[in-house]
Amino acid sequence: MNYYFKSVLVVIVVLLFSATSNAQFPRFKVLAFYSKKVEPAHVEFAVDAIKFFKDLTVGDGFVFDTTSNMADLNDAKLKNYQLVMMLNDFPHNQSQRDAFRKYMENGGGWYGFHVSAYNDQSTNWPWLLDFLGGGVFYRNNWPPMPAKLIVDDQNHSVTKGLPDTFISPTNEWYQWKPSPRERKNIKVLVSLSPENYPFGLKDIIPDGDCPVVWTNTDYRMIYLNMGHGNRIFSDATQDKLIIAALRWVIETDKKGNVFKY
Ligand code: ZN
Repeated sequence: MNYYFKSVLVVIVVLLFSATSNAQFPRFKVLAFYSKKVEPAHVEFAVDAIKFFKDLTVGDGFVFDTTSNMADLNDAKLKNYQLVMMLNDFPHNQSQRDAFRKYMENGGGWYGFHVSAYNDQSTNWPWLLDFLGGGVFYRNNWPPMPAKLIVDDQNHSVTKGLPDTFISPTNEWYQWKPSPRERKNIKVLVSLSPENYPFGLKDIIPDGDCPVVWTNTDYRMIYLNMGHGNRIFSDATQDKLIIAALRWVIETDKKGNVFKY
C-alpha cells in the first residue's frame, strides 16, 4: 500500500466515523432563552438553570444552547431545535409571538419556568392565554418561601417515582385565575398543598386551587412554576422532577420522532 492510498483510506475512515457519530449525537437540541435585565432573583435562577442543564449534556447526549436575544425567536433559528426553554422571559413583540406560535403548532416543544407564563390584563395575547390553560396571574406569596407540594398524578412520566408530597425549596409561587385545572386539555401534575394556607407574610395566598406543574395536551409543552432565586436546584426530589420533565417533553414530537434514552 503506497503512502497516498493509505492517506486516502484514513480520510475515508475518519469521514465514515464522523458521519456515524453525527447520526447519533446530539439526540436533540435545546435553545434556552433568558434575560439578564429582569428581576435579580429571576436572573439568579436562570444562571443556576443554565449550569444545571449544561451539566446534563455530559457525553454529548444533547445540545443546550442559550441566548439572551429574543430576536432569536424566529423561524430560521427555531428550525434547528427540538425544544425552546423559557427561563425568565417571553416573546416581546408580534413577530416573536408569531414565530413561537408557528413553532408550537408545528410540533415544537416548550419548557417554561415561573415568569414565562406570567400574563395579566395588559398582555393582550389570547393565543398564549389559551396555550397556558386560560389562567391569568391572580396573586402570589411574598417573601419567597418553601412550600409543601402535592403530586397529583404519580403515573405520569414526569412525576413517576416522586413521593405523594414533598417540600419544594424557596420560591415565589403564583396563583392563576381561573385555575388551569378547569380546562379539559390541561393535565395538572403537581400543585400547592392547601396545608400551606394562609401562605406568605407580606403578600398572602389565602386559599384556592394552585397548580404548579402542568401540561396542555394539545401541545408538546410543560410548565413549572419554580424559577425564583438561587434555591431551586437545591433539592434532589425537585431536581428529579425537573429532569423528568425535560425527558418527557422532548420524548415524542408531533412528527412522530421518538427519542429514546
Ligand atoms: Zn418571581
